[in-house]
Amino acid sequence: MVIVGAGFGGLRAARALRRAPVEVVLLDRHNYHLFQPLLYQVATAGLEPEQIARPVRAILRGQRNFDFRLVQVTGVDLATRRLHTDAGPVGYDYLILAPGGETNFFGLPGVARHGFGLKDVGDALAIRNHVLGAFERAMLEADAERRRALLTLVVVGGGPTGVEMAGALSELCRLVLAKDYPRLDLKDVRILLLEATDRLLGPMPERLRESAADRLRRKHVEVRFGAAVEDYDGQRVRLKGGEVVPAATLIWAAGAKATDLGATAGLPAARQQRIRVEPTLQLAGHPEAYVIGDAAYIEADGQPLPMMAPPAIQMAETAAANILRALRGEPPRPFRYRDAGSLATIGRNAAVAYIYGIQFTGFVAWVVWLVVHIIQLIGFRNKLFVLLNWTWDYFFYERASRLITKD
Ligand SMILES: Cc1cc2nc3c(=O)[nH]c(=O)nc-3n(C[C@H](O)[C@H](O)[C@H](O)COP(=O)(O)OP(=O)(O)OC[C@H]3O[C@@H](n4cnc5c(N)ncnc54)[C@H](O)[C@@H]3O)c2cc1C
Repeated sequence: MVIVGAGFGGLRAARALRRAPVEVVLLDRHNYHLFQPLLYQVATAGLEPEQIARPVRAILRGQRNFDFRLVQVTGVDLATRRLHTDAGPVGYDYLILAPGGETNFFGLPGVARHGFGLKDVGDALAIRNHVLGAFERAMLEADAERRRALLTLVVVGGGPTGVEMAGALSELCRLVLAKDYPRLDLKDVRILLLEATDRLLGPMPERLRESAADRLRRKHVEVRFGAAVEDYDGQRVRLKGGEVVPAATLIWAAGAKATDLGATAGLPAARQQRIRVEPTLQLAGHPEAYVIGDAAYIEADGQPLPMMAPPAIQMAETAAANILRALRGEPPRPFRYRDAGSLATIGRNAAVAYIYGIQFTGFVAWVVWLVVHIIQLIGFRNKLFVLLNWTWDYFFYERASRLITKD
């Protein structure tokens, strides 16, 4: 039983098979599971990567039928039931592909070259180093216009990642860096959140969407709707319609697509490069091969499932249950998504939450957000350190991780 990817989906599938009469081998190009929903806090100097990630071997070391291989999977040969990896072929009887997604720059080469995506630890550290470095460069810059460009941070995309990133950047600049750089004029710091449509947090109810925009504005974030980015050269963001915003930093939170593993393996492709699967999550014509999580394309009520953690986790449970059913000679069952809702924080005391049809805003939503994220983090040590960090930052207006390690 081979699983590709130790993300939300792959890890849950491995755990769901812990008592099954199978040997489970998990493959990943990293030796850790990463809690991506808190990556933006690494990017904004609030947390260290180790606090939101944990080695896969440590997470699953109590599981007797489990083993791990640190490899990059480069291809899938469904006919011979083999995976190609950078360490040679790996055969399987059953396969679960859960390689997740990557940033989608929508074919904008300037943005891909000069902007920052946010998908893994490397991206988050690159943003942290770059933003802190820009403040240092602003201290050395005599020209007022160039200094303002260094202190202008543009976030593109009004989904949860863009909203959380813009709110966290504003607090980093106004509550923490303002103390570190008393000689810089705070009026020069500009944080823009650019959204091409007319709304933030698209699938949320209108009241929550408006609350999020309002909270961001109160945190001095310039929220701009109908603002589509056409190009970025590292110095200037060019918008559709011709407007140019001088900015040394552009963070792209406007799109995701599946990794290219499906395309390189010639698997059936759907929107966002995702792999089309049967309602049972199997690949058509290959009942032994499943695809789950961000990489899988499946619809519910005529809409593709969102690229989020809950669908990945629930798909993992269905795929594992279907493999157990196959071992017992029973037919597989179709996947049904149970949508519990969604959350986004805008910063201290401010969040929006839509859970089981109930809407929360402000402090209550923020506490719900904190509790949900602490519960979901893997490992007691990580939960404890993150909670300690948040408590410290809350009372002392600090951010622990402000070292510039590379720029
Ligand atoms: C910044 C950010 C914030 C997010 N916030 C939220 C949120 O608040 N709530 C929410 O529900 N979702 C959020 N998401 C989305 C959520 O993280 C994903 O939907 C979820 O991780 C998908 O799970 P997965 O198992 O499909 O893939 P992933 O968790 O991405 O795991 C894929 C794994 O596969 C490995 N891999 C990929 N390709 C290969 C290969 N070729 N060979 C070997 N290994 C490979 C990767 O290293 C990775 O470990 C966020 C995502 C990001 C990037």
